[in-house]
Amino acid sequence: MRILVIEDERKVASFIKRGLEEERYIVETAADGQIGLDLALNNVFDAIVLDVMLPKLDGYSVLRAIRDEGNATPVIMLTARGTTEDRVQGLDLGADDYLSKPFHFEELAARLRSILRRSTTEKTTKLQCGEITLDLVTHFAFRDEKEIELTTKEYALLEYLMRNKDRILSRSMIMQHVWKHNFDPESNIIDVYVKRIRQKIEKPGQTQLITSIRGVGYRMREGGSHEPEVEASAE
Ligand code: CA
Repeated sequence: MRILVIEDERKVASFIKRGLEEERYIVETAADGQIGLDLALNNVFDAIVLDVMLPKLDGYSVLRAIRDEGNATPVIMLTARGTTEDRVQGLDLGADDYLSKPFHFEELAARLRSILRRSTTEKTTKLQCGEITLDLVTHFAFRDEKEIELTTKEYALLEYLMRNKDRILSRSMIMQHVWKHNFDPESNIIDVYVKRIRQKIEKPGQTQLITSIRGVGYRMREGGSHEPEVEASAE
């Protein structure tokens, strides 16, 4: 994920940059509004952290110019005064969130994760894992462009696994998201459904896309089950 930080206070900018880099984001910084706007319009970022009080071009003008170009990159505004009018103005101009200075880095990181999550779920219309594609608009699943017939529940489970590709999902997480009720540890319904989906999406002799994580749950990933399965740990 690439983040653009537009902030003229050098200390604040480097504090944000360092923190975000520790969380494995790729970070670019701009020390005034004009440079920031140029960077925002000529590059693709996953999110922008935008200070309001900036030399050359203030944060509101930068935001307005970005949105006028039809650029929908999520923006978090950093407001110094933190008055209601400030916040409202930013949100009216198309900011996704705001944070009043001074703030804790953890809070910025949490807000950033939240808007990144929102933007990926809203803007993505297709999910991909290996040869499997899910069309989130028509709710069809395809393998190499050939439709896979799934029941509603099978589709919901596959979608949940694909939205969380590479993540280990516990049985209770799957239960809550796909079946919307709490996990009955006696039930093997998830295993039954995973087995059915596997039969539909995987070809015999090929790497499994959905790996069973012993004692925990499942994980879907490209390249499947090369790694040893993880033992159950604190859930
Ligand atoms: Ca400033």
